[in-house]
Amino acid sequence: MQSFTVRSPGHCLRRQCCGLKVSRRASPPVLQVRHNSSTSSSPPKKRTWLRLTVVSLGAAGLGAYFRTHQDAQNSQLNPLSFAHYRLVSRDPVSSTNSIFTLEPSSPANNQETYELAWQTGIWSVMFKQPQLQIGRDYTPLPPLDEGVEEGGHEIPDSLRFLIRRDPHGEVSRYLHSLQVGANIEIRGPQVECEISPEVNNVLFIAGGTGIAPALQAIHVLLRKPAGEEKPKIHILWANRKREDCLGGKSDTLADKSAKSTWWPFGNRDKAGPATAPEPTSSSSTEQGAIVRELQKLKAQYPGQITVDYFVDEESSFISPKEITTFTESAQPSTAEKRMIIVSGPEGFINYMAGNKVWAHGYQLQGTVGGVIQQLGLKDWTIWKL
Ligand SMILES: Cc1cc2nc3c(=O)[nH]c(=O)nc-3n(C[C@H](O)[C@H](O)[C@H](O)COP(=O)(O)OP(=O)(O)OC[C@H]3O[C@@H](n4cnc5c(N)ncnc54)[C@H](O)[C@@H]3O)c2cc1C
Repeated sequence: MQSFTVRSPGHCLRRQCCGLKVSRRASPPVLQVRHNSSTSSSPPKKRTWLRLTVVSLGAAGLGAYFRTHQDAQNSQLNPLSFAHYRLVSRDPVSSTNSIFTLEPSSPANNQETYELAWQTGIWSVMFKQPQLQIGRDYTPLPPLDEGVEEGGHEIPDSLRFLIRRDPHGEVSRYLHSLQVGANIEIRGPQVECEISPEVNNVLFIAGGTGIAPALQAIHVLLRKPAGEEKPKIHILWANRKREDCLGGKSDTLADKSAKSTWWPFGNRDKAGPATAPEPTSSSSTEQGAIVRELQKLKAQYPGQITVDYFVDEESSFISPKEITTFTESAQPSTAEKRMIIVSGPEGFINYMAGNKVWAHGYQLQGTVGGVIQQLGLKDWTIWKL
């Protein structure tokens, strides 16, 4: 809260509490009341009583005004202090992943803040775990336009997140334990990766909930006005279990792919596709929520988006070939216009593109390593999320 008061023009009102609050912000009504009473012709005793009543009523009114005003500030998303949101719904996508929908607890005008972030690139916000006073970053999913299409109303100011419950993770476990209606404090936006509107080819290599930034990239790059050239976006999405991408069918893979795994801790390679269980849902028409969103975006932007699915438990893993198939098909261009973005758990990013590094309290990109380095790609910007 402190930092918010520093940023806000009204900060000194808060820091110095009620006295100055009243004299600054609400001075017109107070002065008006006093002025009126001083010109009254009532007898002195009655005048004192009346003045007290008017002042008390004024103070109560001002208290309510400032409480409302302060609440509004508290739900104003900003990068310096935590804003109060409320959990509106938690919709399971699989046994571990759910989509969380949050909206400001009190009236706030956050659309401009969101819009600025959407125009800049991939962004996240930090969620607070209040008991432990720790925070973790989560990536907003693009807004659904359903309400608009169906003639309904969009929920104003709401944000959606795909959050995986880590059975041993402090913040994700806490978030999954919350009841609908619970207060959640978030801070942001934090821009993770700027995306230039000039970009014309994007390969997204996503692991698990790392699909959220890929959905963001689609939203950022393909919302361009009709007539403007739109980029090609290809997504390679790896999941531990089929339930996380239920009903997802690959666009460019002829069959189950892959020889190598990003998973650095097991011996899944050795099992190989020959011993793999059959995909549990290949014949099913049922689709998970994120697969549905991808399908909808593909229909909305025909020919711009392709998605290939990989599932650990089916022994299908992203291999170098899936990367080069896309990079070799892309038009020759400069590195500014062609991006490979890798997003997901740390082990996944390390395997695909090498470690990120910490220096002077900041997490930096580090050099490109892993699978992508071995491919020796030229004229591609590589970004690790
Ligand atoms: C920019 C960004 C965006 C992100 N977006 C999303 C998103 O949209 N959705 C999403 O689900 N996640 C996202 N994440 C990941 C998220 O921020 C958290 O890292 C994740 O939810 C785990 O946090 P946690 O507090 O639950 O787990 P933590 O408590 O941080 O634990 C992480 C892992 O470490 C292990 N661990 C913890 N302590 C120990 C210990 N002492 N010894 C051994 N192992 C230990 C835990 O078992 C767990 O597996 C994002 C991360 C970043 C950086």
